[in-house]
Order: sequence, then structure tokens, then C-alpha cells
Amino acid sequence: MKIIKAPDKLFKDLKKFKISGKSIGFVPTMGALHAGHLSLIAQARKENKIVVVSIFVNPKQFGPQEDLKVYPRPLKKDLLLCKKEKVDYVFLPGANALYAEGFSTYVDVEGLSAVLCGKSRPGHFRGVATIVTKLFNLVQPDVAYFGQKDAQQASIIKKMTKDLNFPVKIKIMPTLREKDGLAMSSRNAYLGKQERKDALVLSRALNLAKVLIRGGAKDTVRIISRMKQLISKNKNAKLDYIAIVDSENLKPLKIISGNYLIALALNIKKVRLIDNFQGRFSTQSKSVPNMGTL
Ligand code: AMP
Repeated sequence: MKIIKAPDKLFKDLKKFKISGKSIGFVPTMGALHAGHLSLIAQARKENKIVVVSIFVNPKQFGPQEDLKVYPRPLKKDLLLCKKEKVDYVFLPGANALYAEGFSTYVDVEGLSAVLCGKSRPGHFRGVATIVTKLFNLVQPDVAYFGQKDAQQASIIKKMTKDLNFPVKIKIMPTLREKDGLAMSSRNAYLGKQERKDALVLSRALNLAKVLIRGGAKDTVRIISRMKQLISKNKNAKLDYIAIVDSENLKPLKIISGNYLIALALNIKKVRLIDNFQGRFSTQSKSVPNMGTL
């Protein structure tokens, strides 16, 4: 496994694989790797000759009041995990290597970036789209892997890839959960014992929605209201939003139909957590995805 810090060195190294037609699978991460990340890497390993993982805590996607400074960076452990997953290249740039003095070019996916998490995290998705663009240019992957856990991010990356004609196939992999239903996240490490219990309110609210839809509920206002009721019972949970939207264009739905996304964000004390599930509703099948054992 090669660890590369300099962007131009990475580009040069990977060029030979492009020339010889070896497929490159790419998994961008901010490190603090958990089983969710590893599932993306394992998929990339299965489908490509060369696997590249980037570990970069991207300052451009953090707001001034957010957790950039304290974001976990267990580098040694991350590198061991990458080695175990048979990663070929770990790209480990310093912030200065990617954002030189005077950096001033950004990628903004209009519309999709302004809704849901974008409302309370202005500039976040601009930072995400910009770093992913830079990484795509440096790695030039054939396939890039992202998690459904960050559903809005996934929609934005797919739209950006299409709009800007990146010759990259985007694969969205299912959310990995702890046994009790909590979606795995690097930020779960911030949760104390009680907060870890409180955090289950996200998957429980989603599960309630799932049960309601399975029982025939279609009115999204009512479903959201029941979810809010459940969340309000937890004193430590401060809701940011719950939304039921079209999973591609993220526009709100009045009635459950087509490919829908139920997304929510809330704070447990200072820790911001997100979760979602994506379902498909057709008159033929009322099936909703499995949220694990809750
Ligand atoms: P991050 O390091 O948080 O930027 O995440 C890197 C990639 O891992 C993103 O594409 C995430 O959507 C994905 N990811 C994060 N958590 C999970 C999870 N629980 N299951 C699957 N993928 C995940």
C-alpha cells in the first residue's frame, strides 16, 4: 500500500494505470474509518484493479462554529484498516497542498445544496462539491463510492457528475448500522453513554415512518408530525429538520410516491446527527427497505 501526500505525485503515479486501462475505484473519506467506510472500500476492491482511498478532513465543508478542530483523526488505525482492506493507494494531503494561498474557485450545485442540511450548514455542500471535483481530477477514477448515509451529498455528487460531464460512475452503497439501529458515523465517537442511547431516536423515528407507510399512510405532513411527536419525547434531542422529498431532486412530497427520501437531522447536545431512508412506493408494491433490527 502506497501512502501519498503530494497531489501531483498521486496524479503521476495513477496515470500509468489509466494508460494501461486498469480500472480505478475511489473512496473519498475524512478518516476515522468505521465499518461503513470499510464497506465502500470492500466494494471498490471487488470491482476494480486499483483502489484509492483519500483521507482528508476538508476545512471548506466545515462552518466556523463546527467541529473541524476536534474532528477525530486516528491516522495510524485508519492506515492499518486500509492495509487490511488491501487498498493500493492512500491519498493523505495536507490542507495547504489542496488549498494554496489565494484559492478562489468553487463548485456550487445550485438548488440541491440549499435545502435540508444546506439550510443550517450554509457553504457545506459547496465545500463538498469542490473537494470531490478536485479529487476526481487528481485520481481520475472509473468508479467512485459514496454512502447512502449522506443522502443529500449522494444526490449532489450524482448531479454534479452529470452536469460537469465527469467520466466517473457513481455508486451509492447502503448505510451500515450498529446492531441497535444507529447509523455508523465518525461523529458517534463524540457521544457519551446517555447520548449514545438518546441517538437511537433517529432510527426510531425513521422506523415509525416506515411502519406508518407500511400501514398505508401517505400524507407526508401527518407522517412527519408523528415522527416529531416521538422525537419531542427525548429531552436531549433538538430537531433541525425532518423532510420527505423526492430522492433525486430533493423537492418536498405531499404524498408518498415514487422514489422518496425521508431525511432528518438533529442535535444530541452538541453532536449533530443525520439519518435517512430511501424507499420506493408504487401501487404494485408497498415494500419499504429494511432498517435493521430496532
Ligand atoms: P466521511 O468520512 O464521513 O466523509 O464519509 C466518507 C464516505 O463514507 C461517505 O461517502 C459517506 O456517505 C460514507 N459513510 C459514512 N457513514 C456510512 C455508513 N454508516 N454506511 C455506509 N457509508 C457510510
